[in-house]
Amino acid sequence: MDISYIINELAEDRENYYNAVSPPIMQSSNFAFGTVDEMRNAFADEYATYLYSRGLNPTVDILRKKLAALDNAEDCLVFNSGAAAIFAAVLANVKAGDHIVSVNKPYTWAQKMFNNILPRFGVTTTYIDGRDIENFERAILPHTSVIYLESPNSWDYALQDLTAVAELAKVEGIVTIIDNSYCTPIYQKPIDFGIDLVLQSATKYISGHSDTVAGVLSGSKIMMERIFNSEYMTIGSGISPFNAWLLIRGLRTLPMRLKHISESTIQVVKYLKQHPKVEAVIFPFDESFSQYELAKKQMQGACGLLTFIIKAGTVQEIEKFCESLQHILMAVSWGGHESLIIPKCSGIKREHFNALNKEHRMMRLYVGLEEVDYLVKDMEQAFEKMGS
Ligand SMILES: *Cc1c(COP(=O)(O)O)cnc(C)c1O
Repeated sequence: MDISYIINELAEDRENYYNAVSPPIMQSSNFAFGTVDEMRNAFADEYATYLYSRGLNPTVDILRKKLAALDNAEDCLVFNSGAAAIFAAVLANVKAGDHIVSVNKPYTWAQKMFNNILPRFGVTTTYIDGRDIENFERAILPHTSVIYLESPNSWDYALQDLTAVAELAKVEGIVTIIDNSYCTPIYQKPIDFGIDLVLQSATKYISGHSDTVAGVLSGSKIMMERIFNSEYMTIGSGISPFNAWLLIRGLRTLPMRLKHISESTIQVVKYLKQHPKVEAVIFPFDESFSQYELAKKQMQGACGLLTFIIKAGTVQEIEKFCESLQHILMAVSWGGHESLIIPKCSGIKREHFNALNKEHRMMRLYVGLEEVDYLVKDMEQAFEKMGS
């Protein structure tokens, strides 16, 4: 399906709403029936009928159809956060006593689920370095039911060979789930590589304006229907009609925003690589990246996230750099219009900072929609102020 068609037309029945170009926000919690039999049919299959907006909603459905098409998936569900999509995907595929193989350092709240919540139900997780397929082979146990991937990771950009993992999992009858937030379906379609379930935080690039929290989970119709009828409806974490509308609006400009950001990011990487205050830059589409070949093979592009190791002897120098930035904001998240930075040392107590540990000097930068010169000038004056 043509991407322009998906974004501009798919699922939009304009003749049903006065030929309005922008779809209506169906801000209704429930839907009425004319006959008892219609109501009976709705109760029998809520996945096929508008009954109550914790289930299906017409505005959300427009978004669902577009997002599923972008993922090359049969169907998708949209949640009110990426974390909710992760939770539903995993919960739907484990039972007491099962085992999960996860890549190292997945998204924080995925880790908390694996470490704190699932063990209460006897579900255990083995973390592995997903860069080597042999680590998956070694970690799989007879009761492994889920392989959890995140490729690339959003701090060190570690990748997994998606085709190889999908093949291995199929042989073993294990469900594969991937967090695809970094790439979005514009730059990576894991379902094409044989992965079963794909999720992303739509808070990031789909929203694109730092004004909505949302998550998407895509997969087969059978799997989505099963999740809808259990986790989705019982947790009650579906997206609201208004936020769905914001995401439809975000989608209109998604490809062009990503194109702009990808181009700017390469310029910013170039600037940082030559900078005397920068020890290294980690970015999947840079030739120095350890998995560059695999990145080029399975990703159509790399977006605005990169990490650089700043040269600093003290934590105060890093703090000075960050606090001297006048335009790049110090904040979590990414995918919006505005450039952002997180110093790794913000998660470390000052007295535990060790300048010899590269990880402590990691800076995660998100390149937004600003002009490259504007960002470079901002960083340059901050580098000058940090001293040595
Ligand atoms: C932000 C993020 C999430 C969680 O998404 P929310 O929308 O914040 O719940 C999951 N995975 C990655 C990689 C993220 O960056």
